[in-house]
Amino acid sequence: MKNFSLTPLIFQKLLILGILAFGIQTFAQDSLQNPVQDSTPATFQVENGKTIILSTNAKNPKPIKIHQKTYSWIPHPTDKSQKIAILSIPYRTPASTTTLEDGSLVQVIAGNYTKEQIQASPNKVKPNPKNQERINQEREEANKIYSNYSQTRLWDSTFAYPMQSVITSPFGSARVFNNELKSYHSGTDFRAKIGTEIYASNRGKVVIAKNRFLAGGSVVLDHGEGIFSMYYHCSELKVQVGQIVEKGDLIALSGATGRVSGPHLHFGILVRGAQVDPLDFIAQANALFNNP
Ligand SMILES: [Zn+2]
Repeated sequence: MKNFSLTPLIFQKLLILGILAFGIQTFAQDSLQNPVQDSTPATFQVENGKTIILSTNAKNPKPIKIHQKTYSWIPHPTDKSQKIAILSIPYRTPASTTTLEDGSLVQVIAGNYTKEQIQASPNKVKPNPKNQERINQEREEANKIYSNYSQTRLWDSTFAYPMQSVITSPFGSARVFNNELKSYHSGTDFRAKIGTEIYASNRGKVVIAKNRFLAGGSVVLDHGEGIFSMYYHCSELKVQVGQIVEKGDLIALSGATGRVSGPHLHFGILVRGAQVDPLDFIAQANALFNNP
């Protein structure tokens, strides 16, 4: 979590500036008693496709707008005096700098993502018109669900990985299917032989539990406040739409359904409409629970 509030964090900033300005050996109490004028704004860097969580103790902080995307402030999960803004930066956001209300800066920088060549069955890569229609419908349905998220917070603790396994494909790599650039990888793939148990990353409501053309057997959980987790290519679903699941509940068995080149679990996290690096998101969100 990154804190941009003016107090008491300003003292930390001054402390750092003091160290920089006077050198560690001469820094004692002088810089605290006579702080240098702080003109350097705090700068928070975040890669496209990743998450940064800001916090403030301001009473009515203004929503943050980065590249046409607006992020509102929500209660901190453990500290009642603070609000947080979960900035989920879409993958296609260009490098940019945004000035916040208090003068601090959010810099979006380019993530260092790789390209990945994938061979897959041609009818899944170039779907016939009927399948394309199905893909479009399924995408539309999902987008509707993502924009009608639960306003109530259902995530009530740290987020967990859906299984303990080897990561076979990280988030963000460009996907080149049969030599044609289709998209970027919008989640993290876990190695999983067919039938491996998949567990809910956090408390949430089941909003999708069905077979889909590209994602195959799919479970999507709505954790509230615009946060969703998704579990794709499953062989068997253990939950139904509308059901509330607790963190760690068995929700599906992994498989090789949908557009895949082999069995695995595709695990995704979407925050306010943006697919972000799930493992990075989990690290950022869980840090909120480390504070006393
Ligand atoms: Zn995947």
